[in-house]
Amino acid sequence: MTTSNSEVSAIRAAILEGAPGEELASLALPESFRAAYVRRDEVAMFEGVPSAEKDPRKSLHVDEVARPELAPDEVYLAVMASSINFNTVWTSIFEPLPTFGFLDRLARESEWAARHRRDEHIIGSDASGVVLRVGSAVRNWKPGDHVTVHCNHVDDQDPSAHDDSMLATNQRIWGFETNFGGLAELSVVKANQLMPKPTHLTWEESAVNALCNSTSYRMIVSDNGARMKQGDSVLVWGATGGIGGYAIQYVLNGGGTPVGVVSSPERAALLNAMGCEAVIDRRAEQYAFWKDEHTQDETEWRRFGGRIRELIGEDPDIVFEHPGRSTLGASIFAVKRGGTVVTCAATSGYMVEFDNRHFWMKLKRLLSSHFANYAESWAANRLIDQGRIHPLLSTVHPLDDVGEAARSVHRNEVEGKVGVLCLAPEEGLGIADPAKRERIGEDKITLFRRHAG
Ligand code: NAP
Repeated sequence: MTTSNSEVSAIRAAILEGAPGEELASLALPESFRAAYVRRDEVAMFEGVPSAEKDPRKSLHVDEVARPELAPDEVYLAVMASSINFNTVWTSIFEPLPTFGFLDRLARESEWAARHRRDEHIIGSDASGVVLRVGSAVRNWKPGDHVTVHCNHVDDQDPSAHDDSMLATNQRIWGFETNFGGLAELSVVKANQLMPKPTHLTWEESAVNALCNSTSYRMIVSDNGARMKQGDSVLVWGATGGIGGYAIQYVLNGGGTPVGVVSSPERAALLNAMGCEAVIDRRAEQYAFWKDEHTQDETEWRRFGGRIRELIGEDPDIVFEHPGRSTLGASIFAVKRGGTVVTCAATSGYMVEFDNRHFWMKLKRLLSSHFANYAESWAANRLIDQGRIHPLLSTVHPLDDVGEAARSVHRNEVEGKVGVLCLAPEEGLGIADPAKRERIGEDKITLFRRHAG
């Protein structure tokens, strides 16, 4: 594994030896560290290239970057592992916008925020790791703490951040709309992004959850989302994907009936192994909700709705939406009278269309959702720590292969989550409570990893 420099090596060695917090706090900080980033002078590199052919391997660089100063409410985190999210893909293909505009806007807010304006955008919105130093205003965390990081970056001096922080005017996603993200050896994180690392998991298993798991928790369970009740039936698109795989677990854990949509027999089998019995293979059943670029096909919506009824005997109470343009018309049609479609994304296109007659006459609801506030992220992390929800780690890459890792997500080639080893030299390290792991069950924790082979 490539090591940045002697200070980084010393930090890594101390963590792997289990050095106490005081010792970690006494180690010299590196002036620079290795990180994955996109470059401001390359944002036009894919002009004219179709979206599907834009290759993150060309735009993502891994190299030394200068260490930023630490603000009073932040910590330096030694990042042991991180993950690829779809926002990693968006950043690396500069769609729908290059992310440097986010950094420049943030930089105008304060002296500390000005650090984020750089010609490199260090990306990554997940991490597990060890706290190295805390800023003078940090109270609840100390060097040596093993943590995971959620990506809700809020200004706690903004009044609009104090009901639901996702409604804050200046709410941002760390490592996407801010600099100094998790795909790096070192990161700068606000103290109010930290959560305890689940003690039964490895670094890479702990690193892949926070973004997708918290998003699905808010969409399905939270008062801010669809508020799923015991017995509810829930249609989940992309049910073995990042957010879909957690959604299926929330439905099962909450006493609901999931209907999972996937695109291959292997993914259907994986869903069955998760305990989801009602499965639709959208490719095998060849749903074509759009006749052409401008016209949707209601007969296809009906065929899809009929298939759901065949599987579970009713229309779904909730639809978990994120493909967007390709599926939203069908989702609005298929959801039960009075039911809720909850959406957080538009992977296939954001200019969406549905038949408003089916929507209003049947009193359906369309609910928007975006990541999760600290309380929701904490609750979702706690469920992982309790072994009620499991990591979806499937493949693992070293930091140097981040472009390849992002490409596999862009091409819809992987199930669940793609982990990235940052300071962790190999897989399998970081389990603090092996007895708890055994109690919860290796088979449940590693289901996606074993499936990926
Ligand atoms: P992912 O791991 O790539 O999974 C997406 C799944 O969607 C795929 O497994 C695929 O499953 C399915 N899919 C893709 N295109 C589809 C289409 N045209 N029609 C039907 N299904 C399709 O990605 P993810 O991490 O789950 O994220 C999904 C989306 O949510 C992304 O756009 C991401 O940016 C967004 N997101 C938003 C938030 C937020 O806070 N707002 C948070 C997380 C993610 P099959 O091919 O097996 O059907």
